[in-house]
Amino acid sequence: MSAILEARGLSRAFGGGETRVDAVTDVSLTVEPGELVLLRGPSGSGKTTLLNMLGGLDRPTAGSVTLDGAPLSEASEDELADIRRRDIGFVFQSFALLPVLSAAENVEVPLRILRTPAQEREERVAELLDAVGLGDHANQRPYELSGGQQQRVGIARALANRPRVLIADEPTGQLDSGTALAMMALISRLVHEQGVAAIISTHDPRMSEHADRVLQLHDGRLAG
Ligand code: ADP
Ligand code: MG
Repeated sequence: MSAILEARGLSRAFGGGETRVDAVTDVSLTVEPGELVLLRGPSGSGKTTLLNMLGGLDRPTAGSVTLDGAPLSEASEDELADIRRRDIGFVFQSFALLPVLSAAENVEVPLRILRTPAQEREERVAELLDAVGLGDHANQRPYELSGGQQQRVGIARALANRPRVLIADEPTGQLDSGTALAMMALISRLVHEQGVAAIISTHDPRMSEHADRVLQLHDGRLAG
């Protein structure tokens, strides 16, 4: 199996002169389809900065990211937006659900953006809500769901478009520890079932048991 997501010598500095911060320095990594890579590191070690570059949300100061061999650095802003919509699923620590929409409608948003036909949207949403164990909660709004349930909606939404890459930035950061471990188990199962290349950040060492590989960030550099 060959890598779908690849970073080479990736660096990102913020500011310049005396206030310059080297958030990520010379990071190279690959993620294969169906592989769950855990990105561990303490707060401030550069996890979010790295994931944003891998997901085409931010551009590196140096180095490159390629998705299925295509360099993101050569994509225009419009092309990047298109790549994010089609090929990348994002899960956020804060869930980032739309409060006025039901669980099902939240999962449906990315499919509407891609103008997926109604019948197909309905089937895909039902399938995903079942996959995350929320088949009976389709019509509930986020405020009627627990934190763990909201994040399961977030995971279903991230997978709606059958992305090739899943990027999750501390997806368990706002959950209690039991719920967090169950969430990692769920993400791991879906990643393996659906053959998505996943990279997931955490500062919680206990999440490692569900990972195929663990990368450790220290001050913006990968250890080892
Ligand atoms: P983590 O997600 O591991 O907590 P971050 O990637 O958020 O780490 O941050 C890494 C370093 O980069 C920190 O020192 C942070 O303050 C700095 N940083 C992140 N984003 C910015 C920004 N937009 N401007 C300036 N500094 C930033
Ligand atoms: Mg972060």
